[in-house]
Amino acid sequence: MMPQRLRLGPLPTDFAATLRGLSEPARSGETEGERISVQAPFTGEEIGWVMAGTNEDVARAFERARSAQLQWREESWARRRAIVNNFHDRLLRHRDLLCDIVQLETGKNRASAFDEVMDVATNARYYARHAEKFLAPQRRRGAVPVLSRSMQYHHPHGVVGQISPWNYPLSLGIGDAIPALLAGNAVVLKPDSATPFTALLAYRLLFDAGLPRELVQIVTGSGTVVGAAVAEQCDYLMFTGSSATGALLGATAGRRLIGYSAELGGKNPMIVAADADCAAAARVAVDGCFSNSGQLCVSIERIYVDRRLFDQFREAFVQKVKEISLVNGFEWGAGMGSLASAQQLETVRSFVDDARAHGAQVLTGGRARPDLGPYFYEPTVLAGVPEQARLRREEVFGPVVYLEAVDTAQEAIERANDTRYGLNASVCAAPATAWALAPHVESGSVAINDGYTTAWAAIDTPMGGRKDSGLAHRHGREGIVKYTASQNVTEQRWMSIRGPQRLPRRGYAAIMAAALRVGKTLRFLP
Ligand code: NAD
Repeated sequence: MMPQRLRLGPLPTDFAATLRGLSEPARSGETEGERISVQAPFTGEEIGWVMAGTNEDVARAFERARSAQLQWREESWARRRAIVNNFHDRLLRHRDLLCDIVQLETGKNRASAFDEVMDVATNARYYARHAEKFLAPQRRRGAVPVLSRSMQYHHPHGVVGQISPWNYPLSLGIGDAIPALLAGNAVVLKPDSATPFTALLAYRLLFDAGLPRELVQIVTGSGTVVGAAVAEQCDYLMFTGSSATGALLGATAGRRLIGYSAELGGKNPMIVAADADCAAAARVAVDGCFSNSGQLCVSIERIYVDRRLFDQFREAFVQKVKEISLVNGFEWGAGMGSLASAQQLETVRSFVDDARAHGAQVLTGGRARPDLGPYFYEPTVLAGVPEQARLRREEVFGPVVYLEAVDTAQEAIERANDTRYGLNASVCAAPATAWALAPHVESGSVAINDGYTTAWAAIDTPMGGRKDSGLAHRHGREGIVKYTASQNVTEQRWMSIRGPQRLPRRGYAAIMAAALRVGKTLRFLP
């Protein structure tokens, strides 16, 4: 029986043990070995522990997953769909418990935790509804009409390896697995060590919804041991995390010649153009910069404002940021929660201190708040950030943004693109201006008159990073087709497209050259 609601404090021992029992080191009966302590950022106290997996655990997980996949790939669409739809309903039913665990493990505010529940429900509903259509065998045009009949099939890769980060442990722990499973694959997941219980609870709901237990294996443990072993054994790798780790894993995928999807870091710009609604843009910026305490890959970290609006925007934005309530706890009204760890606090503090030391001006924030909790840091707005400051181009991954005035939209685009990243961007402007500017920003998504939410939630539109921000896409058709190998099956009918055997090659060449010419004009060739 699942507890309906948790309070801030350790997870109930039997509940933690039940969830831990779903992970590989525990399943194989291991009781000895290294333990990973899981802490609540709100207090810095331990809420439970999981075992650190080994290479042997990963090997065992793949063995079980491979064997389960052989049956699953033959499963009907109706059954796959029913399981995922059932999971969707369970998610919504257990939303309070899920939000509690997400908040316990990450320290985020409740609204950001609920975003994760909504996101996974949307993902489950969408792929349950469309997966069959996206992957159905498709009739294609053969080389020459009538003489050949061609079909495209999509086959599951086998076992997808998934490595996920701590910042959205529910969304990124299970969201990418849903299309992989619907496509007929098994999954071996390595969740981040800071947030394993969220992932374990999410899969518990999926197993309760009817997913065959062995089809997903969850191996808790470090990136360098368990993550590296997953990358070495999977048939396709789905990674979400930093660009540095993404590049390392890309080398493994390249050496092994397996497909690879990487959702990586960002240094996302917002452009406030001359015809923007300044008050609305300030509201959008607050949400775009400080949701999830800014620990969000698509979060805004730089704002380029048309000089004519700069003072007005700065005043409205800074005022709104000062009004954000920092709250340690579970209430819905909290504007922002804690940072996720001591390491996150140290990173954010060092970026801001470095910018300050180089002469940047702190318009608001810029302080840790140990009076609220060990890792709290104020939402921070900077201006006058010089070239030498590290945060000018490097990703902070925290509640820190800087403002800069620009003279033209062209200059805003140039500055927005002046980074190695290309994940997300925001353009605040009159719609016609914004739609004209958006294609010039080198990013995988652009949210118009919004920070990121509207682009992320547009699940029918693929999303992913350009430049150092990633490879391949999640969401939409591309977000499931990538989990399959495409196969071309073509039948030759009536006669060879090389023509009758007795036809001399010179004659064949003349006929084909004429056919290609006419085919191009009359469009009867593909
Ligand atoms: P990270 O790369 O350090 O860790 C992510 C995951 O990879 C963790 O599970 C970790 O244990 C594992 N890992 C670490 N080293 C590994 C290795 N050598 N081999 C295999 N696995 C390894 O990232 P992080 O700092 O925890 O997460 C924050 C980063 O993730 C930020 O850069 C953020 O922008 C990015 N991110 C991107 C997206 C996206 O969708 N584009 C979403 C969330 C976070």
